[in-house]
Amino acid sequence: MLKAVLMMLVLGGLCGGLLGIASVKFHVEEDHRAEEILAMLPGYNCGGCGYPGCAGMAAAIADGSGNVMNCKPSKPEAKEKIKQYLAENPAA
Ligand code: SF4
Repeated sequence: MLKAVLMMLVLGGLCGGLLGIASVKFHVEEDHRAEEILAMLPGYNCGGCGYPGCAGMAAAIADGSGNVMNCKPSKPEAKEKIKQYLAENPAA
């Protein structure tokens, strides 16, 4: 019984350590700009821009493959605000 408990503790510690190392080694830096851009989009999720929703469009704008002008429901002031935000916060 004691042997089984010790084995589980060792295996648990080993797996936990491996997961900790993997989380550091495979850490992916997220582009926080997509979240900020998403907050500036209308949030209708209509798909008119060609993306499945505003989150997809926000991610595309952040990585440079999307154009805010393709969001027809967005007001001109909001589009300008996003353009200004991108100018002030270029991709890292
Ligand atoms: S067109 Fe605009 S409102 Fe519609 S899903 Fe795309 S980003 Fe959202």
